[in-house]
Amino acid sequence: MSQVVQGKGADDAARKLETGMTAKRIDGKAIAAQLRAEVAEGVAELVQLGVRPGLTVVLVGEDPASQVYVRNKDRAAEAAGFLVRTIKLPAETTQAELMEAVAKLNADASVHGILVQLPLPRGLDEDAVVRAIDPDKDVDGLHPENVARLVMGSEGLVPCTPAGCIELLDRSGVEIEGRHAVVVGRSMLVGKPLAQLLLARNATVTTCHSRSRDLPALCRQADILVSAVGRLGLIRADWVRPGAAVLDVGINRREDGKLAGDVAYEEVSAVAGFITPVPGGVGPMTIAMLLRNTLTAAARSRDLELGAPKAPSSDPS
Ligand code: NDP
Repeated sequence: MSQVVQGKGADDAARKLETGMTAKRIDGKAIAAQLRAEVAEGVAELVQLGVRPGLTVVLVGEDPASQVYVRNKDRAAEAAGFLVRTIKLPAETTQAELMEAVAKLNADASVHGILVQLPLPRGLDEDAVVRAIDPDKDVDGLHPENVARLVMGSEGLVPCTPAGCIELLDRSGVEIEGRHAVVVGRSMLVGKPLAQLLLARNATVTTCHSRSRDLPALCRQADILVSAVGRLGLIRADWVRPGAAVLDVGINRREDGKLAGDVAYEEVSAVAGFITPVPGGVGPMTIAMLLRNTLTAAARSRDLELGAPKAPSSDPS
């Protein structure tokens, strides 16, 4: 797929002529809808087995963006059949009160997933709150125990956005094994866990960041290029190897108020083999993966395997 065009300055029209390539648009909205439907089936299966998977979202303060995110998560979780609760705490909540709320949820067997909406109001220690969540209920996958499990390759809960990126590649038929993946961005939320996930799938992984030298040259090596930076139009057509799969995690606001990613979509579409739009690419996958993590947490809490044939009961009672 990746026939390399010589001459990094070649303009996109020339590249397009040379490669005849127009990227396949990866429809994250459709893939997320499919995934949510699969999760809903899994929820129904667990309900049949006597477990109603439960997600509790903790929202502290009045941040309008957080309120919208939480509402969207709640709606999606309810639609998939989860038992959803939102705990709204005032902005003046103390660290001790928040820790106590988390401890109660840890102890509550009907709660399988706990999500504390970040960022927290100033003065609250996010790191301490994340560490207080039971790792097996940490559906955001941010607890150090889950970070360690990811690095060590053992079963844990994986951050939703990076997990969504892998799902998009898999469901679009993009091979990962043996390919060179370049991830731009090294946050704990996206870049680092995504690099680990790609490595676990046997990609050769390069992680780039704000101090990387000659970022365009590094990006041009990628069979799979992911940008998780938050800079409008950072990734240009001549940074992309013809035929590469380009995932755009970035969310930026353009001057006209519309949302756009890190990738210069039009020009990169003329070079890449696959590309995700913003909006409608990686974004919708994040909530879908949150639901899947909650389902996984619920199944694991009872040692149940979803989709597994049910063993005949040996218990005569
Ligand atoms: P962070 O700000 O935590 O991390 C950004 C990363 O980009 C850092 O590692 C930083 O490097 C790197 N970076 C900054 N500038 C450059 C540059 N010029 N060249 C190369 N690397 C650079 O952001 P997040 O990881 O939380 O989010 C990244 C983007 O993804 C944001 O736009 C965010 O809104 C979006 N996002 C989207 C989600 C979705 O659901 N679609 C979910 C989460 C995030 P350094 O470490 O050296 O500072």
